[in-house]
Amino acid sequence: MDEYWQRPPAEGPYDASTGRGWRAQRTRWFRWVFAAALFVILGKLWLMQVVQADQWREASERALVLNNALPAPRGSIYDRNGRLYAGNHPDWIAVVTPYNVKGFTFGPWQSPLDEPELDDKGEPRYPDPPPGFEEVAYAVADIVNSSASRTSNPPSAGPLDPYEIIDTLCGYSFDPYRQATIATDLDHETVMRLAERFHDLPGLEVVRRYRRSYSHPQESNAFHQIGYVGPIFEDQKYLYDEGYGPSDIIGKEGVESYYEKLLRGRKGRQVKRPRRPPVVDRPPLPGHDLTLNIDARIQAAMEASLARNVEAVNGDAGAAVAMDPHTGAIYAIASYPAFHSEWFLPDHPPEFDSLRSAIEAARPTERLPYQNHATKSKRAPASTFKIVALTAALEEGVIDPTTYGVHCSGHMELGTVRYCWQKHGHGAVGVTRSLTESCNIFYYNVGIRLGQERLLKWAHRFGFGEKTGVDLPGEHPGLVGDEAYLVNELGEDGWFDGHSANMAIGQGPIEATALQVAVMTAVIANGGKRVVPQVVARITDAGEPVPPVKREQEPVLIDLKPSTLYYVRAGMRGVVQYPAGTAFAAFSGENSVPVSVAGKTGSSESGTDDAWFTCYAPYRHMDPSNPVSADQASGAPKIVVTALIIAGGHGGDSAAPVARDVIRAAFDDEGNFLVSSQATP
Ligand SMILES: [Zn+2]
Repeated sequence: MDEYWQRPPAEGPYDASTGRGWRAQRTRWFRWVFAAALFVILGKLWLMQVVQADQWREASERALVLNNALPAPRGSIYDRNGRLYAGNHPDWIAVVTPYNVKGFTFGPWQSPLDEPELDDKGEPRYPDPPPGFEEVAYAVADIVNSSASRTSNPPSAGPLDPYEIIDTLCGYSFDPYRQATIATDLDHETVMRLAERFHDLPGLEVVRRYRRSYSHPQESNAFHQIGYVGPIFEDQKYLYDEGYGPSDIIGKEGVESYYEKLLRGRKGRQVKRPRRPPVVDRPPLPGHDLTLNIDARIQAAMEASLARNVEAVNGDAGAAVAMDPHTGAIYAIASYPAFHSEWFLPDHPPEFDSLRSAIEAARPTERLPYQNHATKSKRAPASTFKIVALTAALEEGVIDPTTYGVHCSGHMELGTVRYCWQKHGHGAVGVTRSLTESCNIFYYNVGIRLGQERLLKWAHRFGFGEKTGVDLPGEHPGLVGDEAYLVNELGEDGWFDGHSANMAIGQGPIEATALQVAVMTAVIANGGKRVVPQVVARITDAGEPVPPVKREQEPVLIDLKPSTLYYVRAGMRGVVQYPAGTAFAAFSGENSVPVSVAGKTGSSESGTDDAWFTCYAPYRHMDPSNPVSADQASGAPKIVVTALIIAGGHGGDSAAPVARDVIRAAFDDEGNFLVSSQATP
């Protein structure tokens, strides 16, 4: 040691005090520092490896412990008779944990599918992905694409593209410890062949998951009502805090979205420690099942008729609702045009894209195929609102039903000349005939007698201007505008008689969804209860019923005089029953139905000509002094049906036939109601 430290001096300027060159002096200083550092490092190593050995081994193993999520099957969705709309099938999928692939380095990386982003020097800003990405992508694509089930006809999904796999993996740069799904729908043979490659393709695994599947009982679709599932979007990443992962699916529309929290279930957890078999420390909990009030058979009849009638008049779109007037249970609810839920599933076959595009391309601005027109499209309720105006006038006592009448000459002076739709005039019009023949002149007078305050009060009582509370996402509340609305939003000078006259015929600042008009009709049909429409009848967890979801709206009881119900119902019955009724043709002769129907047409005359028809059945002739108890005795009515055809012309021509077809599906030839009284679990 001494010899080492006293090596002959190196060259350098002479130093008298040491007899050595400057370079040797600096070297000696460094040696001391180096020796001290070495001592510290060795000491630390000794501490870690000998004194704290157990503690450190545990920590390093903890770093290698992988918590894998175990998928939970999503809850199934059934119609009221137990027919399956949405289920799951188990699926083997190939996943890659980017962090574990060969040669991993942290990203972001340059995906082979993206145009490189260049830096100031014109060089790609991001490095190529780790070599393991390419290796695993080509290996998996080779194996999967050569499997018998992939090449069978028709393929469940197209062949795998290695570049797309690499691109997927590059998308995980923000979280390379998560498993990225790179291949789905693997058959047994493929799973075995992939398993043989696990040792030389670190990061690759095959895991089981559940895949959403949709069916069409009775050839019904119910796209907007069932909804669909899809991936979590960029702006929904907050969901990662609620237990979702990047390859998870989430409900996007319909009950799939409204009941997402119940349907999704809870993921399980599997813990993998080095050199030990994986342990399930929390088993997955399947999602709750939903039984709908929807009857797939009625739903199918409604969808077919709606499509046929929208196309027959070259309308833009359509909506229809069939509902139990007493409970609000929705038997069928349709919107046209519509897609199919399975067209939106991840990994869908490419031909589904063309089916979607074809519907999107057909006059998209008017048709809005993504919109549930039954709950989200608000239109002027037109003459269907005369039901509300007449009820209000009778309840408020502004007219006497036994004596009140107007003479319709086809027009009247009201600032400007207002017309009845019947240009030659209806002549003498009383209360019931006013509804049956939908005389505008009668309702202009009634509207002026009621005035703004009472009109708005009754519009709100019947549920206009607020959400019905249906268990579907994104419902529109419609519109009931008052004087402030006219002044502030429309720049008018105030509310005058002309506005009251207009509102009484369902025009002006009043707009409603088809579902709101159905609820309004139910109030008359059931004798005064504003129901909350319900798509879901029962929620079950492993077959056991769970309490219903708390709803925003509660049913509202509206006190209506028996005589009011008598006159309004009789007027509505005439619409269908009498030759002068506005829907007589739609329900007579070869169009007749086996039950008595009471309804009201509507045809809006502003903007597009929208066609309405709303009705209930069966109608019973009642004692005017006590129509409510007569209802209860007979159990009538059974069903409310409302149809709206946007840009569909006259309500009696295009909307009434939809309701007729639904009623034909709901009753047999003897008039027996065919919808089961209770939704089965
Ligand atoms: Zn008239």
